Amino acid sequence: MNATKRIVLIGPPGCGKGTQAKRIEEATGMVQLSTGDMLRAAVAAGSPIGLKAKAVMEAGQLVSDDLIIGMVADRIKQPDCAKGFILDGFPRSIPQAEALARMLAENQQPMNGAIEIRVPDQFIVERITGRYTCAKCGAGYHDKFQKPKQDGVCDKCGASEFSRRKDDNEETVRTRLGAYHDVTAPIVGFYEKGGILKVVDGTQAIDDVTKSIMGVLGSL
Ligand code: ADP
Ligand code: AMP
Repeated sequence: MNATKRIVLIGPPGCGKGTQAKRIEEATGMVQLSTGDMLRAAVAAGSPIGLKAKAVMEAGQLVSDDLIIGMVADRIKQPDCAKGFILDGFPRSIPQAEALARMLAENQQPMNGAIEIRVPDQFIVERITGRYTCAKCGAGYHDKFQKPKQDGVCDKCGASEFSRRKDDNEETVRTRLGAYHDVTAPIVGFYEKGGILKVVDGTQAIDDVTKSIMGVLGSL
């Protein structure tokens, strides 16, 4: 497979973007670019971006387009992105999608595909409230759908400490879902008009979603 592809994963919080982006990264060498992860790192470091984003993220609202667009513009200039990348959690609004298109056009690097991981709202609260990650290596788990092989031990690195995101509670999930439908979902139409939209059924088991996405990637 040509590894210099650039793709966007679209879908509501908890649809499986991060889970699948990590698997695509491992399988292809394309780089996962998660704006949520970048912001959480900025919050943890107490950087100016983190100080601006912290309260907005905890409330489940969207961080301003200007801040996010600047952060992504810097990131995609990094040399590792020449291997191709998987955008996870960006763009999340029409202005972000338009800004991304301009950035890529300037570098003469078109977007190859936008993959919508479609999951209806009724699945989302259970997906999000059961989510946790390894505190050491960041591997993702779920209380019901993705348990470690040995209880309490990370499959990837053997650590035994895990963490849950502060915004992964039922009330905040509802705000995040509202933001998804009001502000983010229109980007599905944006990429459909651009002729690069593909849809996969995100209610399948995790391995089957991966197979569907790898099939789409092979066709791009
Ligand atoms: P996103 O990055 O889109 O917010 P995640 O990839 O973190 O979502 O997935 C949210 C939670 O749901 C995680 O705990 C993950 O293990 C679990 N999950 C992901 N995909 C599936 C799936 N297809 N079926 C069941 N659970 C899933
Ligand atoms: P995520 O890890 O993708 O679930 O993102 C966590 C939170 O970070 C979101 O609820 C937003 O507050 C913020 N965030 C992440 N990506 C973006 C983005 N592209 N635009 C605006 N806010 C974002």
